[in-house]
Amino acid sequence: MYEKSQKLFAEAKEVMPGGVNSPVRAFKSIGMDPIFLTKAKGAYVYDADGNQYVDYVASWGPMILGHAHPRIVSAVQKAAEKGTSFGAPTEIETEMAQLVIDAVPSIEMVRMVNSGTEAVISALRVARGFTGRNKIVKFAGGYHGHGDSLLIKAGSGVTTLGLPDSPGVTEGVAQDTITVNFNDLEAVKEVFNQIGEEIAAVIIEPIAGNMGLAIPNEGFLEGLREVTQEHGALLIFDEVMTGFRVAYGGAQELYNVTPDLTTLGKVIGGGLPVGAFGGRKDIMEHVAPAGPIYQAGTLSGNPLAMAAGREMLLALKENRTYEKLEKTSALLAGGLKEVAQKHDIEVTFKRVGSMSCVYFTDQDVFDFPTAATSNIPRFRMYFKTLLENGVYIAPSQFEAGFVSLAHTLAEVEKTIHAADKAFAAAKEV
Ligand code: PMP
Repeated sequence: MYEKSQKLFAEAKEVMPGGVNSPVRAFKSIGMDPIFLTKAKGAYVYDADGNQYVDYVASWGPMILGHAHPRIVSAVQKAAEKGTSFGAPTEIETEMAQLVIDAVPSIEMVRMVNSGTEAVISALRVARGFTGRNKIVKFAGGYHGHGDSLLIKAGSGVTTLGLPDSPGVTEGVAQDTITVNFNDLEAVKEVFNQIGEEIAAVIIEPIAGNMGLAIPNEGFLEGLREVTQEHGALLIFDEVMTGFRVAYGGAQELYNVTPDLTTLGKVIGGGLPVGAFGGRKDIMEHVAPAGPIYQAGTLSGNPLAMAAGREMLLALKENRTYEKLEKTSALLAGGLKEVAQKHDIEVTFKRVGSMSCVYFTDQDVFDFPTAATSNIPRFRMYFKTLLENGVYIAPSQFEAGFVSLAHTLAEVEKTIHAADKAFAAAKEV
């Protein structure tokens, strides 16, 4: 059923490293060739062999309205007719900035960029430039794009040196990154007690969607807010995934904790390459050309991306979006739990609004070590069986799944039906 995709992948591997432009797409952790997509509409994606799938990848998050939403398509078409890039100021950039500022509690001033990675790299530079400090604290299993200082593994103790996670990241860079476990506030406090005056910022996915789905314990984010403030370090929420996803104002609205800086990505481009970083005005005024911290981009704020992004945010603001997403997502989670129970397979479900994850473990999951207890061979079988039955989830245990406004009861039922077979197959592994 995947012959054409397999042929396309063989060709792609000759000309691109691993046959892809971004690693997870290659299905490496599944151990099968990836499917090549040709089109997407609403809740569905279609592959080169003509297979149709209910899609929970949602381009890794942004497609909250569903794929090829007429409002987004039309906004992009109209913008394209007027020119795809000027590299000069346009009015829509101010409109977009205002929409983001109105939505996200921490953002008083914002700069548009072209990806989540770029947003994070820039926010870290701002944090370091503003505080005059070098070190940053991140959480194990947290992904913040591929900037050097974030491709770091934890050392053995909380304040031991970080180690490069990829060839090409220097030890010098790694030494400035300290990694602790998600939800371990005591460890963060210990780091601050030891070297608090060297720490520029703590960066966190407030709901961690890159280790599956780890949810902050009550008081954890508040604790981070307190300890950073106490020591003059900045708190950065990486809301590239959660921004405009778990609530219009992101996780910071949901949990009522306001960071100093916030990074946004994919969602605010409606599927076009966009990211943004913003925060307190007194900090953002240090960014060039207002201030000395350099940050730039030829295509930043380009008219196509801004048109798609503006339409996306306007659409999300209407029609009880988050209520609807919650309803569909709850229905799906309830159904999945029921079929998992029926097959008596050990699973742990995690969900916040329209983000969710199924782990194949009997343990509660609240950080990377607990996420890592998931039975990966079982996940692989679950993934493959879902795919064979017309349901496309992220090809890795350590990714969240997303429901869109285009998912209806019909798609939920189709998914539960497929999951019935997938849990049964996983149990046999
Ligand atoms: N931060 C988070 C929380 C992300 O989920 C991602 C991408 N998955 C990034 C940063 C990096 O974004 P991009 O892939 O657009 O560079």
